[in-house]
Parts: sequence; structure tokens; C-alpha cells
Amino acid sequence: MQTERILLGKVIISGTLECLTGLHIGASKENMEIGAIDSPVVRDPVTREPYIPGSSLKGKLRALLEKALCLIDRRDIGTRNNPVKIHVCEDAAKAHNCQLCRIFGSTGYNGGKNFPARLIVRDLRLTAESRDKLEDIDTGLQYTEWKFENAIDRITSAANPRQLERVPRGAEFDFELIYNVEDVNQMKEDIENIKLAISITEADALGGHGSRGYGKVKFNIKGIAGKTIEGFKDKTLVIGNKTIDSVERIKDIYELFQNKKTESQTPVAAST
Ligand SMILES: [Zn+2]
Repeated sequence: MQTERILLGKVIISGTLECLTGLHIGASKENMEIGAIDSPVVRDPVTREPYIPGSSLKGKLRALLEKALCLIDRRDIGTRNNPVKIHVCEDAAKAHNCQLCRIFGSTGYNGGKNFPARLIVRDLRLTAESRDKLEDIDTGLQYTEWKFENAIDRITSAANPRQLERVPRGAEFDFELIYNVEDVNQMKEDIENIKLAISITEADALGGHGSRGYGKVKFNIKGIAGKTIEGFKDKTLVIGNKTIDSVERIKDIYELFQNKKTESQTPVAAST
């Protein structure tokens, strides 16, 4: 088994994430003013625009893929009052052969080495078009809307009305998922698993209050670029940077890296 990690190149999947229903990714309630809404959304501290933290999307993709792969050996990463069990391989060698941990990373346990994630999920910012549209709507909030939710206490039947802030239906965010190609033999399976996690997320919910209809999203994939290390070195080189419109056509990118593998194993002829 390969022990040293190498980087052969990157596969960049980009596009927009569209909110088909309102979306609520909650921010901390610390530093809130009196009279503010009960449950605000997370915002960029500088621009005040709502955004989706890459960690929120990555966590969702990971949790759903874990279920889809029926992985056991869960580790408790929560607290005593709020136990959270997730699958994590206990060392890098195991993680390298685990379909989940090699994509999303694992933290070593009892002296085991960490396995950094192959997948990077950037924070998702509002698209320029959505920003313009949301600037025009008048809700009294910046780029968002608020909605009254009435939670009913199941025992006392008392109503507990509260105000939730959410990003309105129709808003779009730019997304970028970057996969590090480290092992050509595992690349195809990894990309297929990322695709699977994306599809299940569309049938699930992102953010809070999913059971009440929030957080239905659609990934509009606009491009998939495969770039080998040679492609990064030569800034003018376009070879190895194929942009295709559908994940189904990622075959070209697999071929790109397969070729790369053969090239690197063939001795390079000295130039004359
Ligand atoms: Zn694992």
C-alpha cells in the first residue's frame, strides 16, 4: 500500500446551488441585539450577506454518504448531553482504504495518524444575480426573509411562536468542490461517491428545519475541470483542463489521469 501521499492533480466541480425552498443555516445567537429574531442565519461579518459555510455542506455530504455506505464503527464526537456518533477510521492506513474517510478525512485515534480529507468544500457565496435580486426585496432584513414558526409543546399543547430568518426560495449560491487526486485507482470510486452524496443531498435537506420543508436544494453543475500537476505548472497550457457540462461525462477526466499515470511510469526521453 502507498504510504506517502502524493498529489497527481485536482478535479474541480463547480456550479450553483439553488434553494428550492427557504434555507436556514443558523448562526450563533451570541452578540445579538435585544429584539432581534430568535434564529438568525449565518452571515459574512464584512459584507453581511448570508452564506453557506463549506463545513455545513461538507458535513451534510459526509453524513449522507456514511448512511448510504452503511458504515459502522462509529465514534462519539459529541458531548455527554448531546452525543453525536459518526464513522471515523482510527488511523491513516485504514482511512486510505475507506470509501468515506479517504474523501472526507479522519482524525487518528489512540496514536493513529490523521488522514487529511481529499475533498475541499469552499464557502458558498450568493451569486451576483441573486445578490441583486435580494437587494430589491423588502422584508426589513438584508437579503433574507423571516418566517413565524409555531412550535407546539407535545405535552402541554402550549404554542411557542418564534421568528426564523431564512434565505428565500430561488436564491442561488456559487459552489466549488475540489477533489485532490492522490490515487488514480481510487479516483473513479471517490468521484462516484461524491456524485452520490450530491444526489442524496438533493433528496434530503440542507441546514435546519428540514422536516418542515426548509433546505431543499438543487446542484446545477456548470463545469468539471481535471487538472494534472503539469497543467498547474504551465499556466498557458490548456491540456488537462477540460470543462464539461455534466457529471456523467467525467470519463474524459478519468482518462486524463489514467494517461498521466502511464506517462509518469515511462522514462522521459532526454530532449536534444
Ligand atoms: Zn472510515
